[in-house]
Amino acid sequence: MSAAPPSWPDLPASHRRVLLELLIHGEESRVRLAERIDMSRASLTRIVRELVELGFVIEGQSRPSVTRGRPQEMLHLRADAARFVGIKLTGDALYAVLLDLEASVIDRREEALASRDPDSVVDLIRQVTDELLGDHAVPAVIGIGLAGDVLRQGEVEVVERSNFLGWDPPVPLRSLVERATCIRTVVTNDVHALAGAHHWFGSGDEDESIVVYGLGAGIGSGVVIDGDLMEGVHGRSGRVGHARIGGAGRVCDNGHTDCVHSFITMPAIEHNAGVAPGEYALAVSRAHQGDPVALDSFRRAAFALGAVIAESVNAFDPGAVSVMGEGLDMLDLAPEEVPRALAEYLEQLSPDDVRIERPRFDFGLYARGAAVSAMRTVLSS
Ligand SMILES: [Zn+2]
Repeated sequence: MSAAPPSWPDLPASHRRVLLELLIHGEESRVRLAERIDMSRASLTRIVRELVELGFVIEGQSRPSVTRGRPQEMLHLRADAARFVGIKLTGDALYAVLLDLEASVIDRREEALASRDPDSVVDLIRQVTDELLGDHAVPAVIGIGLAGDVLRQGEVEVVERSNFLGWDPPVPLRSLVERATCIRTVVTNDVHALAGAHHWFGSGDEDESIVVYGLGAGIGSGVVIDGDLMEGVHGRSGRVGHARIGGAGRVCDNGHTDCVHSFITMPAIEHNAGVAPGEYALAVSRAHQGDPVALDSFRRAAFALGAVIAESVNAFDPGAVSVMGEGLDMLDLAPEEVPRALAEYLEQLSPDDVRIERPRFDFGLYARGAAVSAMRTVLSS
């Protein structure tokens, strides 16, 4: 194993604010940056000087000003000044990406889990991190995302109820990985991480209040209100899906046969479509061919999605709801069912009042989200 990279410096809030602004909005002139973050030019000058000395910021590259006659000095991040490793764990595999300080993906890895045993998973995380970081002697932080509750008890984080990994008793993943790698680590629920990354980099229209759904083997949601990711007191927020919506579907973990989970997850869709576990693609192709049982399972999934979206809109009043994940075919196969459920469950709103987005998705976004959650811990105030 190569030597551990230097740790991320403990920066004052004002310094983090400048880095965050350049990260999210890109290069900026001193004048505009001072205006945006409501800071005096003198303070900004001092902070920028320190950030330049630390190697995080470069100044002085100029571009012609459109409105004013002379070129403006631009400040921008030095992409190579830090590294963020993002890791998404499923029950079968580890997906990893390496981000630079501008949040660009510069490398990626995918490894099957030889075992779900925590020691073995931690060792794989160490190996992959080591490979991705190589000999770069710049500050690095690791973010790990997984389905499950990441409970915070003071400084201790434990992963609880991670059904896909089958970890019981709870696993202190963060401290295990920190011990193995000597690198600061943050562990986050995977859909919370996806929501945080989507808020910073995803939508492009700067909604400060959004709800993001992650649909696939399970369902989770992440909520950002007024720019803050709401993880909850215990890291358990965004648990949706046991509202009873009628009908008869797959038995959920709580023993329901008529809740959102009974219809919306890929395993539920497979079961309700009458295909074997893991044959989701077959269910999709049968539904496209008009098979009534398969089609009905996607209709019910779409109705269930509309029902949970309505719950979030009633609870949080977001500017947009983003639906992401690998199990979204219900939106193509039964698009009319979402507004039908919204009409049934929304409180004093019409389905047209709800902006639902379906951002471009690939599974790597979960790993990128985990890396962004690492950025969030060192850059957010
Ligand atoms: Zn249930």
